[in-house]
Amino acid sequence: MKNANIQRMTDQRRVILDEIRDTKSHPTADDLYRVVRKRLPKISLGTVYRNLDILTNAGLINKLDFGSGQSRYDANLSEHYHLRCVECNRVVDVMDMPPIHYDRTVLSQTAFEIIGHNLEFVGICPDCRQKLSDTSDTSE
Ligand SMILES: [Zn+2]
Ligand SMILES: [Zn+2]
Repeated sequence: MKNANIQRMTDQRRVILDEIRDTKSHPTADDLYRVVRKRLPKISLGTVYRNLDILTNAGLINKLDFGSGQSRYDANLSEHYHLRCVECNRVVDVMDMPPIHYDRTVLSQTAFEIIGHNLEFVGICPDCRQKLSDTSDTSE
């Protein structure tokens, strides 16, 4: 196979990686713990955290820090941005926005060498918009 790292992986690490690759929801360590425990009932939250660090350091997943709340994890390694719902905290991908334009603009204004940037979009997702507009129903 392509990646030799995968073959040396422990079962625990592979299950965690599988679960991250299986979802587009950008799960937190807690979310992953809940899911992984169904396949590996004896795994601890600490082990999940440790394996997430190893996978992040190996470049197999990205750790997303939105500044508030728990870090989230993403197996989509292509350049993309994130849009977070301020109501339910769901995070979705925003594709096809070449980041080079931002870096060039900042470089031209400051003469800094730009090594990266953090940009997070926030909004209200369709489900939450629906709930918010449905004022007659106060349940949940
Ligand atoms: Zn929402
Ligand atoms: Zn993403």
